[in-house]
Amino acid sequence: MKILKFGGTSVGSADRMKKLLDIINPSDTQIVVLSAVSGTTNSLVEISNQLLKQDKTQALKLIETLKNQYNQLIAELFDKTEFLEQGKEVVDYHFDFLTALSNDLFTQVEEKVVLAQGELLSTTLYHIYLKSINVKSVLLPALDFMKIDEDNEPVISFTTEKLSKIIESYPTDNFFITQGFICRNSFGEVDNLRRGGSDYTASLIGAAIMAEEVQIWTDIDGMHNNDPRIVKGTQPIAQLSFDEAAELAYFGAKILHPQSVFPAQRFKIPVRLLNTMEPQAKGTLITHESEKGKIKSIAAKDGITVIKIQSSRMLLAYGFLRRVFEVFERYKTPIDMITTSEVAVSLTIDFTDNLEQIVKELHDFGSVEVEENKTIVCVVGDFGVEKHGYAARVLDALKHIPVRMISYGGSHYNISVLISTVDKTEALRSLHNRLFD
Ligand code: ADP
Ligand code: ASP
Ligand code: MG
Repeated sequence: MKILKFGGTSVGSADRMKKLLDIINPSDTQIVVLSAVSGTTNSLVEISNQLLKQDKTQALKLIETLKNQYNQLIAELFDKTEFLEQGKEVVDYHFDFLTALSNDLFTQVEEKVVLAQGELLSTTLYHIYLKSINVKSVLLPALDFMKIDEDNEPVISFTTEKLSKIIESYPTDNFFITQGFICRNSFGEVDNLRRGGSDYTASLIGAAIMAEEVQIWTDIDGMHNNDPRIVKGTQPIAQLSFDEAAELAYFGAKILHPQSVFPAQRFKIPVRLLNTMEPQAKGTLITHESEKGKIKSIAAKDGITVIKIQSSRMLLAYGFLRRVFEVFERYKTPIDMITTSEVAVSLTIDFTDNLEQIVKELHDFGSVEVEENKTIVCVVGDFGVEKHGYAARVLDALKHIPVRMISYGGSHYNISVLISTVDKTEALRSLHNRLFD
């Protein structure tokens, strides 16, 4: 069984949906995971924001605009009246539902339901399209087998159990379609795997049923060696280890959801990043293997906040860091980077919902300073202990940029520096020139 995930651009128009069969072989045994049509989830976020603000008029306007786009899409997708009618029923159903939601009390629970409509629409419409051209497929409801627990962690064993049973109940079928991104939470409510979560769905399903391979089909020919939205002349990377890919995804390479590498890594499922617009391109293969002594790629993660705690009591005090970390643990706030000196510790977070309470508690240890609008720039590759010169090259490329923190040696495959977000573009370009040219 293979898992093929197609992102928003890959299903972004009727034409793109039709072209998926250039890539998908209907006779293969596979689960095809689809994202929402590109732009839809952003529109749904906007609709939810208006409803949370209780601006029903604006929300209804946005719902209408989005519905028009879908009516256009089905007009282009279906030639025969019979299937156009079916498509219209689906569009009406989902948009009537959105309109009805705007009459009720609107909380974060309803917000998740709104966000789920994008993947429900794309998969249902694609399923009808396949029917319209006599290609047999089975639409599987992700909400029946994708689940997160009370800590928002996916429950792979649940997916294994449920999905295996569902697939067994279709002994003569081989082509399954399902929604990326959406799941249920521990209360049984509709929830999601955060933005970009369809990659995570594909990897989780791949792990849950021990797939042969997970393919992430997107709008670029694999993981590039720098952010192609910022740096010119970036190149695709043919091979990455799971660890390298995980670092890049976590530290901002948008092509992969930050958590999406871990399930595949844990269950040793190879992941391929491929280009829907250029299916023959080699893309990137992610496996356990790592190429020795090579700098692979550069990524950047914005929206970082630094917290510095200065305390004279830290001097020789064992247990100090534990107590600091416990504060972050109580507020379920992950720490990304940390540097220490004898009198101070600086650490970074990107989830700042509980910042105020965290800072208040940290004041018990000493003085606390907070700096916002920072970016972590991360250079990934194989920097084995016996190697030398890598850190010098990275810092040399950044010699004209103020560096706030440096992290090296935490693993063999990552050098991270913290800079101000205003310096990001220059940092990425300068590193690219110094490390790859
Ligand atoms: P999809 O909708 O298919 O999930 P995304 O927009 O989430 O696609 O991810 C693909 C995009 O990620 C690319 O178009 C590219 O602009 C961006 N990107 C950022 N960093 C990288 C990188 N290092 N390599 C490749 N793409 C990257
Ligand atoms: N549609 C969701 C999003 O836009 C999930 C995804 O595309 O991966 O975030
Ligand atoms: Mg994506």
